[in-house]
Amino acid sequence: MPVSAHPEYDDIDQAAQAHGLIVMGALRDGGESLILLGAGPAFWDHLQAAPEALDGAPDPVDRWSSRVIGALAAQFGAQAEFPFGGPPYAPFIRWAMDSGRAFQSPVGMLVHDTVGMMISYRGALRLPRVIPTPTPRTASPCPTCAAPCITACPVGALSGDTPYNLAACHAYLDTPAGQECMVNGCAVRRACPVSTGAQRQPAQSAHHMRAFHPS
Ligand code: SF4
Ligand code: SF4
Repeated sequence: MPVSAHPEYDDIDQAAQAHGLIVMGALRDGGESLILLGAGPAFWDHLQAAPEALDGAPDPVDRWSSRVIGALAAQFGAQAEFPFGGPPYAPFIRWAMDSGRAFQSPVGMLVHDTVGMMISYRGALRLPRVIPTPTPRTASPCPTCAAPCITACPVGALSGDTPYNLAACHAYLDTPAGQECMVNGCAVRRACPVSTGAQRQPAQSAHHMRAFHPS
């Protein structure tokens, strides 16, 4: 078996996958390394079996992320960073783009090399040292794509021509037709062919939609 060029990264990747997380990127931040962690295909099943999903208290996803990523940070001598809990908020969008694995899509939101527009960064490990990490092999998928994301929103709330029309989106989600987005997730995100890599369960998308648009 060949010796890995980035053994500590591999160990983190393996430990994260044991919790349904995936490494979504890595970057150097001064003399430190940031390992970005996000929801992988097994994330939702892990969450459903966790105490945070069963206790009926608010914010199960963020509380689960705090506990699990906090434990991973302790395991690897790192500090945990989270995209929630602010202000101030950690600059996850900048980190994502600096990782070389996430790119700005034509409609503005990020698209990731393996999970497309089903991006859900759950946290990051800040290691107080620079560790070897794999070189990103991908470029943005957008220049060679027919860009179905641009026309997928039924009300044109997210088309790239203008800033995200949040009011139009929320108004549509209150209509019977809008239940399609509420139940299955944002049609723009689902239209991206790269999003299939996330293997996102509709129940997870519905959870995020309820958080975005409470009834
Ligand atoms: S649908 Fe195509 S153009 Fe739009 S974000 Fe996905 S890959 Fe990029
Ligand atoms: S959730 Fe539905 S209405 Fe809102 S931007 Fe996405 S596709 Fe458009």
